[in-house]
Amino acid sequence: MRRGQPLARRTRLTARKGLTRRTELTTTTELARVTPLRPMSARRRAENRERREIAHATFGDAPLCAIPGCGRLADDVHEPLTRARGGSITDPSNMVPLCRDCHDVVQRGPQWAYDLGLMVHSWDGGDAA
Ligand SMILES: [Zn+2]
Repeated sequence: MRRGQPLARRTRLTARKGLTRRTELTTTTELARVTPLRPMSARRRAENRERREIAHATFGDAPLCAIPGCGRLADDVHEPLTRARGGSITDPSNMVPLCRDCHDVVQRGPQWAYDLGLMVHSWDGGDAA
């Protein structure tokens, strides 16, 4: 296409009838869910309950953070082999009590966490371990 002048209108603009709606508007209440979304499945809720009981039975009421030299009370239960890597959250051998600060650092996956066994690669864990 050759560039040149802008396209020129060849016919005059004429006033016509406006657009008309062909379907009725519907209220959104007819489309709304009757039951609210569940924040967590019943299966996951049961698994978390089981995990809390196992962690309490394994570590007691006031476990200390497992990081050498930390000494604070643990806030979280950490899974060295994460669920995303095929780990179980209800396996006591895959639970380590950590304080929140240490857990935040360990979750970033520094090499020392792998060296201490606090993080496990998927190819190092699972059934083969
Ligand atoms: Zn700690």
